[in-house]
Amino acid sequence: MANIARFKSKSFPLEMHKTRVIQKLNLLPIEERLQAIEEAGYNTFLLKNSKVFLDMLTDSGTNAMSDRQIGAMLIADDAYAGGATFYRLEQSVQNFFGMPYFLPAHQGRACEHLLSKTFVKPGGVIPMNYHFTTSKTHIVQCGGIVEECIIDEGYKVNSDHRFKGNMDIDKLEACINRVGKDNIPFVRLEMGTNLIGGQPVSLSNVESISKVCKKYGLLFVIDASLLNDNLYFMKVYDPTCKHLSIKEISHKISSFADIIYFSARKLSSGRGGGIVLKDKALYDQIKVLVPLYEGFLTYGGMSSREMEAIAVGLDETLDFDMISQGPEFIAAFGEMAKENNIPVVTPFGGLGLHLDARSFLDHIPSEQYPAGALAAAVYIISGARGMERGTLSEDRNEDGSDNPADMELVRLALPRRVFTLSHLTYMVDRLAWLYENRRLIGGLQFVEEPKILRFFLGRLKPIGNWQRTLVDKFIADFGKDAL
Ligand SMILES: *Cc1c(COP(=O)(O)O)cnc(C)c1O
Repeated sequence: MANIARFKSKSFPLEMHKTRVIQKLNLLPIEERLQAIEEAGYNTFLLKNSKVFLDMLTDSGTNAMSDRQIGAMLIADDAYAGGATFYRLEQSVQNFFGMPYFLPAHQGRACEHLLSKTFVKPGGVIPMNYHFTTSKTHIVQCGGIVEECIIDEGYKVNSDHRFKGNMDIDKLEACINRVGKDNIPFVRLEMGTNLIGGQPVSLSNVESISKVCKKYGLLFVIDASLLNDNLYFMKVYDPTCKHLSIKEISHKISSFADIIYFSARKLSSGRGGGIVLKDKALYDQIKVLVPLYEGFLTYGGMSSREMEAIAVGLDETLDFDMISQGPEFIAAFGEMAKENNIPVVTPFGGLGLHLDARSFLDHIPSEQYPAGALAAAVYIISGARGMERGTLSEDRNEDGSDNPADMELVRLALPRRVFTLSHLTYMVDRLAWLYENRRLIGGLQFVEEPKILRFFLGRLKPIGNWQRTLVDKFIADFGKDAL
């Protein structure tokens, strides 16, 4: 019988676009992959992309662009000041968020820098659902303290809660009452939570946080870098959003916030970022820092071509067919992984599939970086690179001890419209083999460890010689010519 229903179901996403430009990929033999990760200090950030088969490090700046985006780049107006391109971008940002004021910045963390410089003073406490690496570091660099108020469910690797990124309103109020509203520069909400599986936030939660902020006179700042996926989850799983268009949902979110910032590298498949605001006085306060740190007010460190691409990309993010592809591919990938007993974060979130390294490698303690070891092992066995999102991604405590992460994850990011179902099937096969042979994998230790954001540039080495044993087992199973 014809199976008409399975398409557009969880395990069979249907692309509402076609491929017109391709990039040749290269799958190195396993011995060369081992050498490459050795040279990269067992840090997937330090691998050369020419040595990578499937680049699942991040979706930041790596989503496939549309024909309309590439076309728009050709009409960029290259002016330092007052270029037509900037005003097209500004209009698109206003249309997307429904807020009047826009400040350009070169990427998401630049917005975090500007906001932290403007608002955070030593000892200030910033309540948030969950931290992100760069947001936390910018706050801490300004003397601020991050306090996480996510719902308890958010800490569970596996749950049925559709909005695990929600803030716990009682925790938020308790924090405000404890530290005093005058010591809180702003409340930050990340939609959705990057470090704990790309888990979304519900619209009613945004509204509740806004009510608390109004009650205490606090600024409400939303990090919208991953908003595209969050909009999808709201549309599909939040009953209050069912009858709203994506644009209506986006404007409702904006109606609750004072300031929204975003990484356009993620949100719009372009490369840049920006801050949107409702209030002219706040806009004026932050705006003076833009020419100092980013560039003039009508480009903010972005090239005019990228600004054109972002303008079109934001318009396209309002189209359900364009934003559904990411989460639907991730869900298909996750369903296949689950069928093979590979431990993954559930519900499947945005950004990518998140392997649960704490369960995958339950014999490796946090201080030996199980997620870092798993990311290295995944590269050796598959040629795909993911990203460690665990204890390595947390900097040390002041006393020098490691700060064990709430979750030890390996994120296999799926940049939108880039990979095919065959790529994902290939990955599931490799992951299944790796899971069967997980006891062969050991931990990592630092060789070179930067003080801040150590996961970007740190170099490590295996504890013992497990990488060799793993490769030998692969060759014993599949032959020395197997890729
Ligand atoms: C990526 C990201 C940022 C930083 O954006 P960049 O453009 O990479 O600087 C901030 N917040 C969240 C939630 C992100 O995912």
